[in-house]
Amino acid sequence: GLRSAAQVRSDFIEFYRARGHELVPSSPVRPRADPSLLFVNAGMNQFKPLLLGTADPRTPLSSLRRAVNSQKCVRAGGKHNDLDDVGKDHSHHTFFEMMGSWSFGDYFKSEACSMAWTLLTEVYQIPKERLYVSFFNGDPGSGLPPDLETREVWLQLGLPPHRVLPFGLEDNFWEMGDTGPCGPCTEIHVDLRGARDAAPLVNRGCPEVLEIWNLVFMEYNRYWADASLWPLPLRSVDTGMGLERLVSVLQNKSSNYDTDLFLPLILHLHQLSGAVPYSGGPGLLDTAYRVVVDHVRTLAVCIADGVHPGMSGAELVLRRILRRAVRFSLEVLKAPEGTLGRLVPTVAQILVSFVLQSWDSTHLCVINENEAQFLSSLKQGTRLIQRTLHKMEPGAAFPASVAWSLHRDLGFPLDLVDLVLTERGVQVDPEELDQIKAQNKVLALVYNRTLVDQVSEGLCGLILDQTCFYSEKGGQSPDQGYLS
Ligand code: ATP
Ligand code: MG
Ligand code: MG
Ligand code: MG
Repeated sequence: GLRSAAQVRSDFIEFYRARGHELVPSSPVRPRADPSLLFVNAGMNQFKPLLLGTADPRTPLSSLRRAVNSQKCVRAGGKHNDLDDVGKDHSHHTFFEMMGSWSFGDYFKSEACSMAWTLLTEVYQIPKERLYVSFFNGDPGSGLPPDLETREVWLQLGLPPHRVLPFGLEDNFWEMGDTGPCGPCTEIHVDLRGARDAAPLVNRGCPEVLEIWNLVFMEYNRYWADASLWPLPLRSVDTGMGLERLVSVLQNKSSNYDTDLFLPLILHLHQLSGAVPYSGGPGLLDTAYRVVVDHVRTLAVCIADGVHPGMSGAELVLRRILRRAVRFSLEVLKAPEGTLGRLVPTVAQILVSFVLQSWDSTHLCVINENEAQFLSSLKQGTRLIQRTLHKMEPGAAFPASVAWSLHRDLGFPLDLVDLVLTERGVQVDPEELDQIKAQNKVLALVYNRTLVDQVSEGLCGLILDQTCFYSEKGGQSPDQGYLS
């Protein structure tokens, strides 16, 4: 029979435990003491001090040599932001689990690749001829050599040369963010189409040739955005594989949404909304199903970890996600108010114990209150859009001033405005919108300056520097506020 998602997860963990890796629980999705991140975006985040060699020697963490876990990740802001793909494709989520394994200055390339290969081909029994690997082809501009060692490792493991493919910085050099640990990586891709030769389609956006696992060889640190790389004291291995994608492969599905991680949620949403059943297609209705179930998982996990929808930073991102979910649920699926909240117990059932230890009435209150807050704006906004469309000449651009007012006065996230307009086949003139944004930025800068003046008269030079830095970067502070 097919493996359940829970089985896939525990097989991964057991495989590495049997090879001397200690199981470390997932950290919460809100990063601990790392201002360079909005959300935890990879399994390695909590191990950053270990990779950098800065772990406090008095903590148990510092003596860890091998680790395994399944980490709750959110990629909806910052360097790794997949929000715009969610619902449109079948493999990017705002919340997903990244199963990971680590060597901290212990084994390196050959053991890492060999363990991954054994797990995929012997434990999970993915046919070898469906698997492709990539390696870093070097980048003369930044003085980085090609990673021929890794290529050799794969050839030694028995892969034919035409399934060991070179790629550049974009695909095969992994960085956590603008700063921090980084290094060349090797990735494993699955050809879901079976025996056909997919080589030219790896990393080409073909949905049937799917990236599943990234093995990063952490060798460098980037101290400052755009600055040069420094070698790390230890050479470490950091791997991450998306649980949802692996499960879709092992359950013979071509979509993450057709696995036991999502199907019960989709069925529940169908019951609650009474909409036409989900059919997995590219249309608006199926997209809405995917967006809502994706977003409700993110909401449940984030709220459980103490991130509530709000006005800045991660909170603002979550507010945006909630508003998108409300809009797709109410307006596209015609679901009744309260639907998002009612889905939470189903999320908890699916993610039970390992990921979402608990949900409670807080979840429902937060979600329902935020939904209610947005409801009247949503109705007003939809009317405003319709009135505006009605008055427009055919083929004209949607007035940017109206888009801005939807955003500023009615709290429509700009990406949601964009989505709604795209559905009706119109667009805002991007230049006009940029102008309005720029004017708004000037205002925000003035506001920032006042803050800077106040702070500099007071105590703290450090805060001053940070504020200046972000102002120079265009007024964009870590909490992006209205500027995003
Ligand atoms: P992609 O190229 O598909 O966007 P990525 O290269 O950005 O993926 P990595 O940073 O290498 O992803 O993360 C390691 C693994 O985590 C990926 O190989 C994939 O299995 C999984 N993963 C990454 N982003 C997502 C996402 N948004 N939703 C689900 N799984 C993801
Ligand atoms: Mg990506
Ligand atoms: Mg990739
Ligand atoms: Mg990758």
